[in-house]
Amino acid sequence: MASGDYYEVLGVGRKADPDEIKKAYRELARKWHPDRNPGDSEAEEKFKEVQAAYDVLSDPEKRKQYDAGGMFGGGGFGPGGRGGFPGGGAFSGNIGDIFSSIFNRGGGGAGAGPQRGRDLEAEVQLSFDQAVHGTQITIEVPTTGACATCGGSGAKPGTAPKVCQRCEGSGVDSQSQGFFSIQQPCPECGGQGSVIEQPCPTCAGSGITQESKRYRVNIPAGVHDGSRIRLAGKGEAGFRDGPRGDLYVTTRVAPSPVFRQRPDGNLDVDLPVTVTEAIQGATIEVPTLKGSKRIKIPPGTQHGSTQRLKGEGPPRTSGAGRGDIHYRVQLQIPEQLTPEQREAVEGLAKALNGEDPRSELLARAARPAQGGE
Ligand SMILES: [Zn+2]
Ligand SMILES: [Zn+2]
Repeated sequence: MASGDYYEVLGVGRKADPDEIKKAYRELARKWHPDRNPGDSEAEEKFKEVQAAYDVLSDPEKRKQYDAGGMFGGGGFGPGGRGGFPGGGAFSGNIGDIFSSIFNRGGGGAGAGPQRGRDLEAEVQLSFDQAVHGTQITIEVPTTGACATCGGSGAKPGTAPKVCQRCEGSGVDSQSQGFFSIQQPCPECGGQGSVIEQPCPTCAGSGITQESKRYRVNIPAGVHDGSRIRLAGKGEAGFRDGPRGDLYVTTRVAPSPVFRQRPDGNLDVDLPVTVTEAIQGATIEVPTLKGSKRIKIPPGTQHGSTQRLKGEGPPRTSGAGRGDIHYRVQLQIPEQLTPEQREAVEGLAKALNGEDPRSELLARAARPAQGGE
């Protein structure tokens, strides 16, 4: 489960002003918009998260509630928090909202648990050849790591975090109210279960520092513009020894002047064909990824029809063999004719003079309602 804190979702501080929140929201919403990430369920999930976070943080009233409870911070509310909640209409809408937000939070166990680091995003620019044949690329990613000074504990070297006295390390603060109890992150330790009395001077107690990492990324053959490669555990460092997030590398592929990549792993090529080749049929040379091949087009080939070379496309990223190349026939009509050619075309026109290919079209269009003839 992704980080549940709305401020973390938007990547802003708790004191962020409405403009900052709006700006962060816009950037993230654009990044994760389903139109930009077709078929990517993870992006869709993120998009929803971002929407939900903005819905609350952009509304001063909702934000106040969210902040006031302190109830939403951290990821600490497991099913235990539901104990004794009678359910149903005994509460006003506002309280209901607060509760549903708590319960949607999920998360596991008590409040002090480690948190998984955030996922990171990077983009790489590839040439068409690199995308088709695969390559290795080095990327540099700004990320976070465990602080070298304190080893990630957040405590000044020589000292150690102390167990929080208020919650005795559970990170959870319980209060009875009538017949049910409210659980919220311990206000003393912020739900961490421990208190750092002397913070590490390097990381100011967070246990995390900024760093830049270089990774060599294997780009598999057959990636597309917009393909995403996941590098497990190469994201930001986790909090309190939580696991690292993942790094997602999105490939940007420069277009080829000849081949167009299709989402299904095949390639499209526009294939110029002369009128006489189309009428008579022909064996013609066509470009492939490895050079060229000869293909047959049958007599009576239509403009826009497709000839296929199976298995001549790039490897499929699914591992299931190679894609195909589809050649789309583009009839080339001469714009200027020599007198000799004009005569030949006139002869052809006479010889082909038969049925009007538009008669049915005109008959269909000539409806009385349209005021036709
Ligand atoms: Zn430190
Ligand atoms: Zn505490």
